[in-house]
Amino acid sequence: MNNSNKTVINFENTYASLPEIFYQSISPSPVKDPKLIIFNKKLGKELGMDTDKDNDYYTEIFSGNTIPSGASPLAQRYAGHQFGNFVPQLGDGRAILLGEIVTANNNRFDIQLKGSGKTEFSRGGDGRSALGPVIREYLISEAMHVLKIPTTRALSAVETGEQVFRETPLPGGILTRVAGSHLRVGTFEYFASRQLTNELKIIADYTINRHYSEANESKNTYLTFLELFAKKQASLIAKWMGVGFIHGVMNTDNTSISGETIDYGPCAFMDNYDPSTVFSSIDRHGRYAFGNQPQIAQWNLASLAGCLLPLIDNNEDKAKDSVRKIIEGFSGIVNSDISEVMCLKIGLNSKNKKSQESLKNLLALMKSSEADYTLAFRYLGDYLNNENESSFRELFNNKVEIEHWLVDWLELINAEESSKKSIIESMQTINPIYIPRNHLVERAIKAGVNDGDYSVMFNLSLVLETPYKLQEVDQDYMNPPQPSERVLETFCGT
Ligand code: AMP
Ligand code: MG
Repeated sequence: MNNSNKTVINFENTYASLPEIFYQSISPSPVKDPKLIIFNKKLGKELGMDTDKDNDYYTEIFSGNTIPSGASPLAQRYAGHQFGNFVPQLGDGRAILLGEIVTANNNRFDIQLKGSGKTEFSRGGDGRSALGPVIREYLISEAMHVLKIPTTRALSAVETGEQVFRETPLPGGILTRVAGSHLRVGTFEYFASRQLTNELKIIADYTINRHYSEANESKNTYLTFLELFAKKQASLIAKWMGVGFIHGVMNTDNTSISGETIDYGPCAFMDNYDPSTVFSSIDRHGRYAFGNQPQIAQWNLASLAGCLLPLIDNNEDKAKDSVRKIIEGFSGIVNSDISEVMCLKIGLNSKNKKSQESLKNLLALMKSSEADYTLAFRYLGDYLNNENESSFRELFNNKVEIEHWLVDWLELINAEESSKKSIIESMQTINPIYIPRNHLVERAIKAGVNDGDYSVMFNLSLVLETPYKLQEVDQDYMNPPQPSERVLETFCGT
């Protein structure tokens, strides 16, 4: 491994200056024969990186073979509730934070390699990632960003030239991930569960300064922090619900404090509308089903709240009373955020009770017809715009009911304050045509993993860059899978 002195990434690391209990200082383990699959240069530029350096140089960095000047590589310590069960020690078992970058707009980002080798938190794992999940995370996280959903980003994907052993030998990969931070609910749980109140305060203050500095102005900083976190979670979940995103492993260690979608594992987008949809092979009881996500976010909020009690008030009962209000208030906030997102998808203002009624009726019809979640909203906008008028109707079996629904809905549209033209415009910028459908993502993974052919991934990634505009590409990119193409199960691949 060579330590280069050339500065291509301007690191400014704060996590590494925390006391050592928060992490293990450790470098990535080099890999044999790395190949750069994709470098998201647009994102690199936004981060102020010198993207003109040759690809070989970046291949070395993104594979962990070269530690760029200014990096202070480390693995973060955290705990977490996995499927409701507390695991006192998790931590970055296969990821290494290289450091932080501050952009020209003064936003701070973590740069992390995922799949970069063992750490003290590897717990018997190999510290590596298979290539398939790297491709999946790259495609889906970038698609989420374009769909205006807070998320970690993908800066690059590399092949390691080494095999990893899961059920079978598979090619290995490394993803370079960019995040507002990698602070998790589980980070707080680690220190709170051990009653390390000093450390808990250090990490809470660090988090507040990094993500919720406005809480410093309030009378009870830590309570305000919890409240602001709750609001961000609610807004995030509402956005997931709006596009049919199913995270799949909403454990507290996979819940980012910054309010970003993080840790893309067996996540997937729902095709036909059904709130009980689950793809993840490990989610046997449907804990993380599409329709459960708001309640699970509340559960995770309660976990964070429990951690913060000693910081909120010395009197435990008083502290519990204050956090209970925030936890209970979460349902109202998340439901109202979801209602706003969803009503806008059908061109209506959620403040009107009738809009909510109309939405509810539409969803019921979509469910009984197994209508495609993405196309139904998009075609509804087309219908209002007098384009492809039959497309919307064709998604429904219950022909009479959907005609009735349309009549009632048009009445509401006409009663809206905004003009029909601006409603159509709004609907067509909210309702995507193209999403990273599971079968398309799987196709890209298969071609990459089995044949080293990344053209399928590149083409899909290109289409997903402009999700709201009809493109001159194969219809396949917008359509739900044929029955034979349906992917029923997704895997963590860890
Ligand atoms: P995840 O499923 O990515 O949320 O990971 C859950 C926990 O398992 C985290 O602590 C990971 O760092 C750890 N982990 C997952 N895969 C591996 C692996 N291949 N080697 C070591 N640790 C892993
Ligand atoms: Mg995780």
